[in-house]
Amino acid sequence: MSFEQLGLDSRLLKAVQGSGFQQPTDIQRRAIPLALAGKDLMASAQTGTGKTAAFVLPTLQRLLQPAAKRDVGPRALVVTPTRELALQISDAVAQFGRFCRLTTGHLVGGMPYPPQYRMLDKPLDLLVATPGRLLDHMRQGRVNFSRLQVLILDEADRMLDMGFIRPIKTIAAAVPAARQTLLFSATLEGQVLKIAKALMKNPERVQLAANRDRHAMIAQRIYQADDVGHKRQLLSHHLGQDELTQALVFTATKRGARRMAKVLDAQGHATAALHGDMSQSARKRTVERMRRGKIRVLVATDVAARGLDIRSISHVINFDLPMVAEDYIHRIGRTGRAQAMGTAISLVAPDDRSKLSEIERLTGRSLERGIVVGLEPNAHTSRNVPRSNRKPRPGTKPGPRSRAHNAKKATSGFKSRIGNPRKKGSPRRRLSASRRDANIIA
Ligand code: ADP
Ligand code: MG
Repeated sequence: MSFEQLGLDSRLLKAVQGSGFQQPTDIQRRAIPLALAGKDLMASAQTGTGKTAAFVLPTLQRLLQPAAKRDVGPRALVVTPTRELALQISDAVAQFGRFCRLTTGHLVGGMPYPPQYRMLDKPLDLLVATPGRLLDHMRQGRVNFSRLQVLILDEADRMLDMGFIRPIKTIAAAVPAARQTLLFSATLEGQVLKIAKALMKNPERVQLAANRDRHAMIAQRIYQADDVGHKRQLLSHHLGQDELTQALVFTATKRGARRMAKVLDAQGHATAALHGDMSQSARKRTVERMRRGKIRVLVATDVAARGLDIRSISHVINFDLPMVAEDYIHRIGRTGRAQAMGTAISLVAPDDRSKLSEIERLTGRSLERGIVVGLEPNAHTSRNVPRSNRKPRPGTKPGPRSRAHNAKKATSGFKSRIGNPRKKGSPRRRLSASRRDANIIA
């Protein structure tokens, strides 16, 4: 099926052609006709499958009809969890709407208020907003929703994860009841489903991703590490691999992200940090530099990386596992975008075991264990002995290898040489000496 067959206006088709899309993705094929027919819609599909265009295109088409009344305020509202996502959606709106004379804007935190006031004081066709800043303006009585025809909740599951349930309810209650509501999410279960049903009238449901079979395009592996120093060595190893074109490395804290970015950069990996303490413009600049390939490694916290769409990211590396298992799915969805293959690597220290089992339960599979020759975990780590029962680390001597360990190693099917493959004569065995000065990374 082609975009022409979806019933889109010729101005939109021209823009779609210009953006190089050959044919609609599954979610676009299913969602666009329903949205064009004016239905309420709840839709789920895995990340990277083109949900943005699935709601932007039919919404723009609806906005091509003249407004019922002249007044200020938006006719369509997209609510999305983060500033980065809001800006990405704005870009998509600008791209697909470039042959339509529509007024669009975005409302996100970290930006000055006066231009936002001015925007809200004018008629606006489409507004993209993050919940926090939008509520801010609503509380000040500055948003006129009387013309609102379409409400779109994008990445609804993320918004709920981030605690935006009240804001969403408040926003939905403030807009006209006679509206069209479109909800897009990576999953449609539990709370998402509940809120979707509460906000919609006889919604159509398009569900393309079962929770469990997502991410077929992403090879997922874990590497067991004895401690944080060992994690740093494993990270260095993976960053040195040629098949890694660009990596997104996740750390648990902003401080961790900052420090790691500094050290990696000093080591010659073009690296930058992305975290919530940065100003909006600094975050945007950083994402742009990553997109243009000026940065090879981006060290980020969860909040900052939510929804990032950078197609060239070949690897997602979880240096720290996420606190919440669902974030794992969102993190790895940053690679394998738009049909490219991606690799997701998680470094798992003994302390991370319970987080790992949560992740494996959620994804419904046991993640493949990888081994880097020369950087194997010691027997205690790989045998999964709880921390309190472990003997003290053998220090500079590699511990005796258990049979279980050797068996695992033999069957893991994943071996690679340590460090930069171009370096001849890298030691094959565990580098206890270099492990001691393991301050390779912070
Ligand atoms: P999602 O919201 O489902 O995670 P996005 O809307 O961000 O996914 O789209 C992911 C990537 O796929 C974007 O780079 C987008 O430009 C691209 N894309 C979307 N639809 C198509 C299409 N029909 N053909 C080719 N690429 C597409
Ligand atoms: Mg999306």
